[in-house]
Amino acid sequence: MDAELAICRTCGTQFGVVNPERCPICEDPRQYVPRGGQAWTTLSALRRDHHNRFAAQGELTGIVTEPSFAIGQRALLVPFGERNLLWDCITLFDEDTAALVQRRGGLAAIAISHPHYYSAMVEWARWFDCPIHLPSADREWVVRPDPRIAYWDGDRLELGQGLTLIRTGGHFPGATVLHRAAPDGSGTLLAGDVCLPVPDARYVCFLWSYPNRVPLPAADVRRIGDAVAPFDFEVMHCAFWDNEVADAKRVWTRSIERFATAVQTPGGSREAADQ
Ligand SMILES: [Zn+2]
Ligand SMILES: [Zn+2]
Repeated sequence: MDAELAICRTCGTQFGVVNPERCPICEDPRQYVPRGGQAWTTLSALRRDHHNRFAAQGELTGIVTEPSFAIGQRALLVPFGERNLLWDCITLFDEDTAALVQRRGGLAAIAISHPHYYSAMVEWARWFDCPIHLPSADREWVVRPDPRIAYWDGDRLELGQGLTLIRTGGHFPGATVLHRAAPDGSGTLLAGDVCLPVPDARYVCFLWSYPNRVPLPAADVRRIGDAVAPFDFEVMHCAFWDNEVADAKRVWTRSIERFATAVQTPGGSREAADQ
């Protein structure tokens, strides 16, 4: 019974078994086990007291679970030919969600930025009978294997229809962003949490662990910058609701420079990078 498989309450990942001993994703220092200890739920329990909300996120459609569950990220429906690509994923998948996605053309594929958002990806992929594109570099974090998972190697995967997966590394070795080149020539970057907005709209931040506030080494920050440098984009959407960043390529480049400088040369360098 898929709806009875165990789901970690802290990271929202659905396991391929009903009684896992532990959640390796939360035991990893990028996440955390809550003070009360590891707790579990199931899709059938989640369906009783949660629902998904659909709303526009810029030119895309966002899907988020209410009340908030686990990490609280939202997924995005990205036009992909006649159908959609689901960028990132959320745990709750129910009949209403399936019907609303189907009404918008259904899913042709799923792609996920990193293991914190693997959630219940297999439930979504089975319903729409579509592939899940994941980088081989993060294969060890898949806790519900499925033949629909299509592992890819290298630094980029062209999906067609103007969509390109770019492996930046950083937060995870396989951490990936999605670039969308629209037919009018404009570009959008879907960043997952390879970076996240900060209160100062001129910047985003790049961390190894967001909940635990652990920075990345300068070399990793530069590598993230280099991977994305060839792509143009005006808008960026990060992992949470209404996390749209305007003037995004400039914000991105300025932030890479500030972070790389700050972790390389402690003291005084942040001000230098601000100028
Ligand atoms: Zn977990
Ligand atoms: Zn994460």
